[in-house]
Amino acid sequence: MTNPLPGAPHLAYSQGRLAMDGLDLQSLGQAYGTPLYVYSAQAMSAAARAYQAALAGRPHLLCYAMKANSNLAVLQTFAQLGLGFDIVSAGELKRVLAAGGDPAKVVFSGVGKTRAEMQAALRLGVRCFNVESQAELEVLAEVAQHEGRAARVSLRVNPDIDAGTHPYISTGLKGNKFGVAHDRALSLYAQARQLKGLDVMGIDCHIGSQITEVAPYLDALDRVLDLVEAIERDGTRLHHLDLGGGLGITYTDEQPPSPQALVQAMLQRIDARGHGHRELLLEPGRSLVGNAGVLLTDVLYLKPAQADEMTQGGRHFCVVDAAMNDMMRPAMYQAWMGIVECVQPPAGAARTTWDVVGPVCESGDWLGKDRSLAVQAGDTLAVLSAGAYGMTMASNYNTRGRAAEIMIKGGRAHLIRERETPEQLFAGERLIG
Ligand SMILES: *Cc1c(COP(=O)(O)O)cnc(C)c1O
Repeated sequence: MTNPLPGAPHLAYSQGRLAMDGLDLQSLGQAYGTPLYVYSAQAMSAAARAYQAALAGRPHLLCYAMKANSNLAVLQTFAQLGLGFDIVSAGELKRVLAAGGDPAKVVFSGVGKTRAEMQAALRLGVRCFNVESQAELEVLAEVAQHEGRAARVSLRVNPDIDAGTHPYISTGLKGNKFGVAHDRALSLYAQARQLKGLDVMGIDCHIGSQITEVAPYLDALDRVLDLVEAIERDGTRLHHLDLGGGLGITYTDEQPPSPQALVQAMLQRIDARGHGHRELLLEPGRSLVGNAGVLLTDVLYLKPAQADEMTQGGRHFCVVDAAMNDMMRPAMYQAWMGIVECVQPPAGAARTTWDVVGPVCESGDWLGKDRSLAVQAGDTLAVLSAGAYGMTMASNYNTRGRAAEIMIKGGRAHLIRERETPEQLFAGERLIG
């Protein structure tokens, strides 16, 4: 048994065939068709339990950032473990309800909440709004008064910390659109305290995604605690600290801290500064689901370059049936994702360096470049670490139906989302006349 991905023990080759929780992946691809997302419920639960164990004995709430993967069965898995949810739209709130989640464990983030979204969230009694600007704070107060309810709020502060990650997924720097500037937070808290319709609960920050070190978290935490102390000196009591999500996973050779190591380091700092009595909220997304999923895709055609083309910058293309519309991360962030054969080629099989590309009409449509693979048309490949920001970012570009999703739970494969048909894609469209 060999594991193609460190930190993903649910994924292993057994007699040369890649299996997830013991189920053969190529067979799943054949049974349900490709492209196909396959997730391990057990791997998701294990990741959530790692956070829970580290937080045990502390007042805390783990809110899964569901934009990472919002399939109802995924939400159900986490709701059953007692997790809450970090949402960024009223649509996501509906998903929480549909999956049996508790709105009282929901925090509502995002820079552009509409009045209608605020109203819906207030009526359902979400636990806290993470407010990202003065303008939003004022509108929320208005909506809450109109509803005759109090909106529980935290301000999302921007600690101006470089999380050392990709610019598109870094959110805690001054130039980012997220949160309120550190030096304006104090006066905004004073305003929030005065506004009718608001109930100030805590403070929030989220500095980015795919963060692979503890240091930026501790830097941000120190900045946040400085603020907490100033805010309380100013007369506003804060109940909770929400330190966001962002913990990275292993795609290739990254070695992020474990959830335990990260949480322990945070708790130590919180205690050292005398804030141990506060409830701690965390909003992990990627680290709960990323390594729990793969995207299966079949090789359609091999398109090798001729020798003379190779000297002129030619490339060998391996055309597969998954594309940027199924998995956007490589096209959008130049993200590197592992790609492996579902059936290991025999030892000594000839390998070629392929660019693994999809059928979509964009040169940016690639899943991996320079991958050493021994493949033939008809083979099944697995794109690893595909459980986060895969299906949720999928689109219908090129009128491609979104992939089906499978969850392995209790040793069985469950279809948790049907493949979209072309008819579904244009069902809402109308001819004129
Ligand atoms: C996206 C997001 C998260 C989760 O980030 P991950 O990197 O997936 O852990 C948490 N909080 C907020 C506000 C977010 O926008």
